[in-house]
Amino acid sequence: MNFEIIPGSPQSPVILHVPHASRFIPSEVRAEIQLSDAELAAELDSMTDSKTDEIAIAAAGKSEIRPWIFINRYSRLVIDPERFPDDREIMNKVGMGAVYRKTSTGKDLRPADFRHENPLLDLYFYPYAIALETLVSDRLEVLGGATIIDVHSYRPEQHQNAVNHGQRRPAICIGTDEFHTSKYLIESAERSFSIVGDTFTNEPYSGTYVPLKFYGIEPRVQSIMMETRADTFVGANLELHEGASRVIDGLTDLISRVKMNDERLD
Ligand SMILES: [Zn+2]
Repeated sequence: MNFEIIPGSPQSPVILHVPHASRFIPSEVRAEIQLSDAELAAELDSMTDSKTDEIAIAAAGKSEIRPWIFINRYSRLVIDPERFPDDREIMNKVGMGAVYRKTSTGKDLRPADFRHENPLLDLYFYPYAIALETLVSDRLEVLGGATIIDVHSYRPEQHQNAVNHGQRRPAICIGTDEFHTSKYLIESAERSFSIVGDTFTNEPYSGTYVPLKFYGIEPRVQSIMMETRADTFVGANLELHEGASRVIDGLTDLISRVKMNDERLD
């Protein structure tokens, strides 16, 4: 299985979604990536949200009411679960849709005549999306509400092959959705993460994950993204440094502020 669900408290409406923490690539998928081992390691250093799984697990462990955790256990170079698998995806134009064709520097990741996108989507993308949708449905059914906190990090330096050049790069970028992120949730995140540093909304990354079944339809499914600038909690070696405790405390605080459906809608 390319994903793992770590169960939380039956009383918790919160799901921590960790899509980009893994470096694992199955050998048959690796065989179709045309980078040397050294180039691939450098690309993984650049593209992986290193240690965000440990941040999420630590914050869950410190939470009074333990949230659920949904972790992608495969690298985003296999499939990126946060991209649309079709023409809606803006990153398609730089070759980085659900199945990447290009690297973060614009080199060819897969051959120009690569034709295995659909098998990768069928094997990994759709089962992942369905499992996460099911987890959200379950919370909704049991508690009448679900809140996804999308846990990411981003590099201090802008990737060359990107669509969001020239924007600010704060300690914490909070990604929101007009329909699925309440004002209360945004203000809670700003308060919780102020111990990490400056926060901006939707800059340099915007949006947050919502299963398509609920997207734009079910306001009781709430979602917010935390994009933590990597240097606030990992060093150049991509290992956690002392700043990690502030990021964990910030996330723990945000988890505790999430309220049930009736109280939190504006
Ligand atoms: Zn990410």
